[in-house]
This record gives sequence, structure tokens and C-alpha cells, in this order.
Amino acid sequence: MPKRIELLLSPSQAVSPATVRHHAALEAGIVLDDVTSVRLIRRSIDARARMPGVRIQADVYAGEEAPVTSLVLDNLKHANSKKRVIIVGAGPAGYFAALELLEHGITPIVIDRGKDVRARRRDLRAIQQDGIVDPHSNYCFGEGGAGTYSDGKLYTRSHKRGSIEKVLQLLVEHGATTDILIDTHPHIGSNKLWVVVQKMRETILQFGGEVHFESYVTDMVLTSDAQKNRSAKGVVLSDGREILADAVILATGHSARDVFFMCERNNIAVESKPFALGVRIEHSQELIDSIQYHHAPRHPDLPASSYKLVCQADGRGVFSFCMCPGGLIVPSATSAGEIVVNGMSMSRRDSPFANSGTVVAVEPQDWQDYASAGNLAAMEYQASVERAAFASNGDGSQRSPAQRLVDYLGGHVSSSIPKTSYIPGHASIDMRSILPPNIDARLRIAIREFGRSMRGYLTNDAVMVGVESRTSSPVRIPRDHETKEHINVSRLFPCGEGAGYAGGIVSAALDGQNVAQSIIAKIFSAA
Ligand SMILES: Cc1cc2nc3c(=O)[nH]c(=O)nc-3n(C[C@H](O)[C@H](O)[C@H](O)COP(=O)(O)OP(=O)(O)OC[C@H]3O[C@@H](n4cnc5c(N)ncnc54)[C@H](O)[C@@H]3O)c2cc1C
Repeated sequence: MPKRIELLLSPSQAVSPATVRHHAALEAGIVLDDVTSVRLIRRSIDARARMPGVRIQADVYAGEEAPVTSLVLDNLKHANSKKRVIIVGAGPAGYFAALELLEHGITPIVIDRGKDVRARRRDLRAIQQDGIVDPHSNYCFGEGGAGTYSDGKLYTRSHKRGSIEKVLQLLVEHGATTDILIDTHPHIGSNKLWVVVQKMRETILQFGGEVHFESYVTDMVLTSDAQKNRSAKGVVLSDGREILADAVILATGHSARDVFFMCERNNIAVESKPFALGVRIEHSQELIDSIQYHHAPRHPDLPASSYKLVCQADGRGVFSFCMCPGGLIVPSATSAGEIVVNGMSMSRRDSPFANSGTVVAVEPQDWQDYASAGNLAAMEYQASVERAAFASNGDGSQRSPAQRLVDYLGGHVSSSIPKTSYIPGHASIDMRSILPPNIDARLRIAIREFGRSMRGYLTNDAVMVGVESRTSSPVRIPRDHETKEHINVSRLFPCGEGAGYAGGIVSAALDGQNVAQSIIAKIFSAA
């Protein structure tokens, strides 16, 4: 039996495997030469002390080797072409659903409106440099989904929703570093994530699945029985092709507004749901490090530090969202005529900037004015703020509205905006002119509160950039809790973030796996 131990090491000790082994043997009371292996279980930064350290939990083996973990990929079977499931969307929900189906030899047919993960990069450059938004290939659409050119944070609160270990293990089996299996805040980074996504596609193809790009679903093929019960038979693509299958998974993400309209047109129930709305706030990473690590400069073996802020403002939650240490603010619009921002980072998290969404919980009373949009009122409210952000720069570019935090609180338009990580540039405006009053008032309260709780946060160089509006889907596509099937169309399975059942890469992947298991139980076990 291994001995479970805990260590608190300095950052430079923690990066040396030999030093970790030495201290692990000491802690376990085993002579170093007798140690056969040390398996790390958990690793986290402890920044509470004046000199931050690294906490490690490990199993120390003596006289036996640590057991070898079996590969999830070894469970995949070649697909049976007579058992077919259409998966609309090649994001984490779609690809993890596909791999889960392949464990049971069922053919996944993945369709994505965007381009493959490598070709997609050209379109990201066009948004960054020329302000041209391709409505099918951008930071949200294309292979790997919204998660690919992101920060690649892999933590979730969805611990009860499935096996996070299996999700992380599959990412490792497709090329991600094994560090993600032990870090409390695992992270991949955009420069590495795209390779993982590409390898996942290669696995799907190798086992007989299909992956189709640059053609999008415009309609559903539905049938009705004598009792008018409807069932999904397949999908219609933008090039007119009809594809039929035993079931359809709709995993199209939070930005596919055309899919929500398509559901409405077909009387496939959808409903508005709460989300969160606000801005992205950027500081220098050096400042955040000096606040979080109590001294500057940061130790070279410590990662760029992050923060998490939350408070109640006038009865609603305001919180930091998708904090990107050492990251960039990116233009995440999916159509011309709107400005949306989000954050991403590379695996080394080495940009000089730290940014984070700072958002207010949106509630039904906020979208009352959009009641004429019926079930899609929350989405129309969200779109109206994005259009206002676009109109604010006056030149039709992706220059985002921006204001120094202190000017925002003081009610002045900033005379200059300091250098930020957002490549398209900024228009200096009063952010109050584009933020809905309910959001603006609460952001002011929260930013003052955050300035009090995190000394240094409220500096003249901190900038707010708008708008952070795609925090989660403003629409839910309701489904049965057990079977995961749509409430009024059988064999249709709403899935992932767009349908309202996930809020990040890992939770979307878990939902993809869960939906695939439900399909296997409902459709293929009975057959
Ligand atoms: C810039 C950015 C940074 C982010 N950073 C992180 C992070 O660090 N950590 C984290 O956990 N989450 C992050 N997120 C959120 C995360 O990416 C999403 O939660 C996750 O990708 C949702 O997965 P999904 O599979 O449900 O949908 P998506 O990833 O949105 O995938 C949906 C797919 O469906 C396709 N599609 C849409 N409509 C159609 C159609 N009609 N026909 C065919 N295909 C269609 C799209 O092209 C897309 O590829 C970030 C998001 C962005 C935009």
C-alpha cells in the first residue's frame, strides 16, 4: 500500500522532481533508495503566507510500482454504420459526446458551421486586425467550439455531473500535459488546446465517425405519429443536404442565435434564462501578482496569479468571471454590427496583462422591455447591449468601448486609455451610455467594494472594456431531467452550454458524455 503524504515546498523545490521525491520519502519515513515511485495526487499554490509555497499531496510507493492507469481510448470500438447519431456542434459537448458514443460502437456524425481548428485561425486574425467578423468562423464558432481559442481553464463546480477525471484523462490522451490531472486549477492554453482538439477529431475519424465542417444546420427533419407526437429524424444543412440518423444532439453553443430561431419556427420549446452581463476589467499582471503574492516581482517558478471577487449589490450577485492571468482580451462577436469581449491566454500565461469579466446577474425583469421577442426576450436584450457597444465607436470597427475604472466611478470620459491587450483598439466613452441602468448601478457598487477588498485594484491604470455579454446562454432548450430528451420532440437531445446545461469547457464535455449515455440507454439498449 502506498503512503499518502502532504508537503509544503518552496516554488523552486516544487518544480524539481528529484527534490519532491526526496521530501516525499522523508515525510513518508521511507529511505530514499527504497522509494519505487512517487505519484502526485494534487498540487496547489498556497499564497496565504508572506512567501507563497506549493502544497503537494502524493502517494509514496516502496517495494511496488504505482499502478498504471488504463487508457480511456482503449475502450473505443469501431463504429457500426447502422447506428447513427447526428451531433450538431464540434465544441467540447459535441466532441466528448462523439467519443462516448464510440465507446459503444455508435457512429457520431459531427457537423460544425465553422472551419477546422487550424483554418479557423485565419478568421481570428481577420477579426483582430481588420475588424471583419465571419459569422461562421470566429472566437465562438468552428472546430473545438468557443473553448478552443480561450483561456483553457479546466475547472468546474459540476462535480456531481459526471467524471471530471475521465474528461481530463481524455484530454491528456490527446496530447494535453499530465499536469492537468493534479493541478487544483488546471489550464491548457490556446497554443496547446488546438492540437488536442485536432487529435480528438482524428480519433473520431479513425474509429469510423464522421466530421463535417463549413456547412450549418438550418432546419430539423421531424416526423409526427398519429397522436401528433413529434420525433427528430435528422437535419437539413445550409447546402440543402438532408442527413438522417437515429437521434440528434443539439450542441450549438450560446451564440448560435439562428438555431434558437430555428427551434421557435418549428415549435420546439425554448425559453429565456438568466445569464450575466457586464464588462472585462484589465490590470497589469505585475500589479495583480504584487497584490496576491504579497511582493513583487513574482517568483519565476510561480504561475501568474489570479483573483476571484464576488459581492452582492442591491440584491444581486456581481462577480469576476473567467479570470485570465497573463492573458488577452479578445473580440468574440459572432456577427457584424456587435461588439463582445472575452478572455484567452497561452499556456505560459506570460502576457503583461491580467483580465477578468466583471458581471452582474441578469434577471427576468431586465428583459421585460423585449417581451415582444417572446421566448427569446433575454437573447434580444443581450443583443441590444452588444449593438450599443458597436455603435459607440462610430466607425464600424471592432474598437471596443473603454473607460478607466476611476473615471467610470468619477463620471468622466477618460482623456486617454492606457495600452491594453485588446488588439483592435478602443473608443473612450462613458460606459454608462451603453450599459443598462440596472447593470451600471450594480457594477459601480461592486467595483467600489472590490477596490476595498483588494487593495490596489482601483488604480488609474485599470481599464474596463465592453461588453462581456456571452457569459452563458440567455436561452434554455428544455429537456427531460432523466432521459435528456427534449420535452416535446423525442430523439432530439439539447446539450451543452447553448441549451443551458453547461458553463465552461469541462461542464460542456460532461454534458456531452451524459447526453450520449442517455441516448445509448434510451435508443440503442432497447433496440
Ligand atoms: C474567448 C473565450 C474564452 C473562454 N475561456 C474559457 C475557459 O478558460 N474555460 C472554460 O471552461 N470555458 C471558457 N469559455 C467558455 C467555453 O468555451 C464554453 O463554455 C464551451 O466551449 C461550451 O461548449 P459547447 O460544446 O456547449 O458549445 P461551443 O463550444 O460553443 O460549441 C458549439 C459549436 O456549435 C457550432 N454551431 C453553432 N451553430 C451551428 C449550426 N447551426 N450548425 C452547425 N454547427 C453549429 C459552432 O460553430 C461551435 O463550434 C470561453 C469562451 C470564449 C468565447
